[in-house]
Amino acid sequence: MPLEIVTVPCLSDNYAFLLHDTESGQTALVDAPDADAITAELTARGWTLDEILLTHHHWDHIDGVAPLREAYGAKVTGAAADAHRLPKLDRAVNDGESFDLFGHEVQVLDVSGHTIGHIAFYIPGSNAVFTADSLMALGCGRLFEGTPAQMWESLSKLMRLPADILVYSGHEYTQSNAAFALTIEPDNPALKSRIAQIDSARGTGKATVPSAMQLELDTNPFLRAHLPKVKELLGMAGAEPVEVFTEIRKRKDSF
Ligand code: ZN
Ligand code: FE
Repeated sequence: MPLEIVTVPCLSDNYAFLLHDTESGQTALVDAPDADAITAELTARGWTLDEILLTHHHWDHIDGVAPLREAYGAKVTGAAADAHRLPKLDRAVNDGESFDLFGHEVQVLDVSGHTIGHIAFYIPGSNAVFTADSLMALGCGRLFEGTPAQMWESLSKLMRLPADILVYSGHEYTQSNAAFALTIEPDNPALKSRIAQIDSARGTGKATVPSAMQLELDTNPFLRAHLPKVKELLGMAGAEPVEVFTEIRKRKDSF
């Protein structure tokens, strides 16, 4: 049985995710922006909290850890490389490692770029990858600590995962990402139809996260830097994918 995954809106535009194993009744959380919102969701469902998985050190992903650990005794997992600036870790993990979560295999991928030591959690048995501020719906995280080359390598890693999985990213930035994506590929039909769906979802207050990996591959400009037609649109025919990615990221920073 795949994990039951619940999206929990937190703060103004963050998402946290509850991962519930229906057989054992155990629950994990990916990122802890706001203990109150997460506690309310757990209480409404009659769940407790056994594990907290952290993607990176930014306050809007870890601020809820202390009160949740205190209330539930949840065990905390995060990147060993970032242990010095994460809440105290019960399980420190490295790129390429796997660990067991209530009988489900979780693979750890280093996806540095937004921060150094940012990790993603891929759960093959649930067709889910938790990317937070690395790969985002129609976008990617701003490069606060890493280089464009690091982010391109991280995104390339995610692009090699199966296309039929869902991408659980950390923020509702999709509508503004969409406006930018259109400046790169104004005539991409998949992008245009995705934007119509995004606008109608947001019009009724619905989340646009998670999103299908295949849809990201077809529409997210940051995953398309290697495509000849995108290079041509940018006047960069023949350029290396990392150079094209760098240009797209630069344009987004001043968009
Ligand atoms: Zn962040
Ligand atoms: Fe964030």
